[in-house]
Amino acid sequence: ANHQTELLFFRMGDFYELFFDDAYVASNSLNITLTKRGKLNGEDIPMCGVPHHAADRYIEILIKKGLNVAICEQTETPFEAKKRGYKSIVKRSVIRIITPGTLVEDNLLEKAASNFLLSINEVRGELSVAWTDISTGTFFVKATSTDEIDSHMARIRPSEVLISESYSQGNLVRLKEKKYKVTVLSNSSFNTTNSQEKLKNHYGVKSISSFGSFSYSMIGSLGAILDYILITQKGDNIQLLRPCLEKNKAILEIDQHTRKNLEINRSLSGEKEGSLVSVLDKTMTNFGSRLLEQRVNAPSAEIKLIQESLSLTDFFFKNPGISKSLRGELSACPDFERALSRIAFYRSNYQDLLSLKKGIIVTSKVKSLFVNNDINKSMPIKLTHLVGKIFDFKDMIIVLTNALTEGPIEIANKVSFIKPGYNSELDELRDLLSKREDFVKELEGELILKTNISNLKIKQNNVLGYFIEVTSKNAELIFDGEKTTDFIHRQTTANTVRFNTKELISLETQIKTASSKIEELENQLYKELQELILRLRSEIRSACSLLGELDFFSSLGVISKEKNWVKPKIVNRKILEIFEGRHPVVESFSERNRDISFIPNDCYLNENSLINLITGPNMAGKSTFLRQNALIIIMAQLGSFVPANNAVIGLTDRVFSRIGASDDLSEGHSTFMVEMIETAIILNQATEKSFVILDEIGRGTSTFDGLSIAWATLEHLHNQNHCRTLFATHYHELTVLENQLSSISNRTVKIKEYEGELVFLHKIVEGFSNHSFGIKVADLAGIPLAVTERATEILKRLENKSGLKSTQEKILQNSIKKEKEKENTQILCKESETYDFIQALEIDNVSPKEALHLLYKIQRDLKS
Ligand code: ATP
Repeated sequence: ANHQTELLFFRMGDFYELFFDDAYVASNSLNITLTKRGKLNGEDIPMCGVPHHAADRYIEILIKKGLNVAICEQTETPFEAKKRGYKSIVKRSVIRIITPGTLVEDNLLEKAASNFLLSINEVRGELSVAWTDISTGTFFVKATSTDEIDSHMARIRPSEVLISESYSQGNLVRLKEKKYKVTVLSNSSFNTTNSQEKLKNHYGVKSISSFGSFSYSMIGSLGAILDYILITQKGDNIQLLRPCLEKNKAILEIDQHTRKNLEINRSLSGEKEGSLVSVLDKTMTNFGSRLLEQRVNAPSAEIKLIQESLSLTDFFFKNPGISKSLRGELSACPDFERALSRIAFYRSNYQDLLSLKKGIIVTSKVKSLFVNNDINKSMPIKLTHLVGKIFDFKDMIIVLTNALTEGPIEIANKVSFIKPGYNSELDELRDLLSKREDFVKELEGELILKTNISNLKIKQNNVLGYFIEVTSKNAELIFDGEKTTDFIHRQTTANTVRFNTKELISLETQIKTASSKIEELENQLYKELQELILRLRSEIRSACSLLGELDFFSSLGVISKEKNWVKPKIVNRKILEIFEGRHPVVESFSERNRDISFIPNDCYLNENSLINLITGPNMAGKSTFLRQNALIIIMAQLGSFVPANNAVIGLTDRVFSRIGASDDLSEGHSTFMVEMIETAIILNQATEKSFVILDEIGRGTSTFDGLSIAWATLEHLHNQNHCRTLFATHYHELTVLENQLSSISNRTVKIKEYEGELVFLHKIVEGFSNHSFGIKVADLAGIPLAVTERATEILKRLENKSGLKSTQEKILQNSIKKEKEKENTQILCKESETYDFIQALEIDNVSPKEALHLLYKIQRDLKS
């Protein structure tokens, strides 16, 4: 009854069994057989089960499906149960609740990604978020606001979100629509006073103010996380680092839509392959990979920090020798950050101790790589600083190397990880055990001689322990033999008869005693090693993060060299000058899969030319160009070199994008609604330091509505937002704005028509295009000839009827004339021109009134 929201895995021998509704859900989700066990009120009890040794695999599937699992284990031995009373059932209780945000098990965690549990709390309008990755112990808190919270969450990407009952009203649906796994806790979990007490008890401090100055709301969000971990981990071995206030470091904000559009973590098809992360990630360790993922999601917006980072990447770029040695060492480094957490949670095994041993050995080798090397003279200060902070684990390395074997060994029929020679008492017991086992072998030989039964064997099983086994045919020799009166009959099977002797029983007792003493002693030694490790917990954590940094920067250095990228110059001006820029992902893909060279393109945005309006045929490369420039900014600000021959990048506070057509039906938004939401975010939030890419805005609605919206958006960006913008469109009418608005420049993509065929040159040049060649592209796509021929006919008729081309040219010439005469360039176009324009657009089935109305509105807004 206490675990209504979890699937209860009930331990029965070598299986976990699930009953009633849980059995239906599990059998369905895991595709396993549903059976029955026993009856309740005359009805069969539905049941299904999974083997204990393979449970992780099944649990992983359930967790990925958003379900929670409660693990119910035996908490006493059958012997202890018997002691409590005749026929007592072995006690069982839930020892752990597994939820997506509280994983520590290596095989359930994604290796290269952090796994955050996040809580949201609101106290009298003050909003905060706290988040932890219990697999590494990090614990952060931050004040936020309704405007910012979505962007924080998009950056942190929590696996599970905790909210209170009161916050859930009005927010639960919104969070679920955003596909977060939400868990609602009672309000008391977030209560400030309760939380303060819980935090004080947990960290054993009189006051938590020494950790940071936390607001009421922050204390509640921290308390809720602690509460939830206590509930799910079922014990007091909770190991979280002290919470820290996330410093208000300036971060390059990238909203959720932009992250998706730019394919930062995942490609549009949802795969890692094809994303920016997949191209950048050349790290050698899991924690390096996790750091890269964090940095890609939160590049810096502080010029000094970015320059420091670039200097580190530059060092590894210029010193391939040291990069190679470092990466060689790191390649042998296991994920000792997560191993440490399991040790701290007392959920570890010998593999974790071995990982830790290997990890600190690598740490010490890495340190000496930099310290005892001439190279340290040319190291940037930040690197010297990093390396200087690495702890020397000399003593611990000696102990762990002496204590642990490289892998499991078998001594006296027992698997162990403790090296012979580490503990003399253990050695003696092992010796004793081996001798006793040798005695068993000797005894077997003696009994063969004594009984004259050559195939007599001494065997062992869980029920009888040690026993003497002879075939049924030879059993008579023992039952009737004079020399075998000391044989005690134990069991008769189909083909064999089994016996025991006092001597064998005594030997067995000695073996059992030695064996359990060995187990006890090994457990004690294990605990001692565990404690030894935990004493240096913070040094080990810091080593992981320092090694992670080195891995991150050396990985960027290596990929930058491999791909021929260049160190960008970051300046505090409104500028984006990219010479011969490339798209990092499309370039890799083209080279690898299509054997095609990527055509580099320049981008020059500055105070005088803040907006580039890009027109050109379909398939020409407009979207690619837009995206590549946004990605170049992100890469530069996270500390990477960029795919270009030269890059001067003005510090950017936010990157915005509006790309492509996609609907979000689960959120109740049509394609056009998504387009408008994304555009609204940009127009309302872009600052002078922002960078905006807009691709085909207005395509989701009727031509006139779309054109008008695109037109007005462009003007707003120019007149109000004043931000660097790349604006791609098929509304060729917009190109006239180059002459109306001072900082807009037209760009187009070169193509060639050769013998009636289109050749895409993918080269961005000055100028504009009044052709989209849509029908040609449709032809290329395999649209039936009859359709494309008919489309060409209709197009001609429409163009002639509307006089579109000639009127557009007329408008252009008029505008140029106006520019020359230095007339008021802020005014879009005169009424007569608007009328001409509307006339030109008068095509079948569209009311000119509708268009006129919109264009008047734009004009009115402009004038005001
Ligand atoms: P549409 O207007 O139809 O959306 P577009 O102009 O935005 O088209 P893209 O989607 O950017 O065109 O690119 C079309 C194709 O051209 C893609 O397959 C892309 O890989 C390739 N491409 C784009 N830019 C380049 C380039 N600079 N060099 C080589 N190939 C490129």
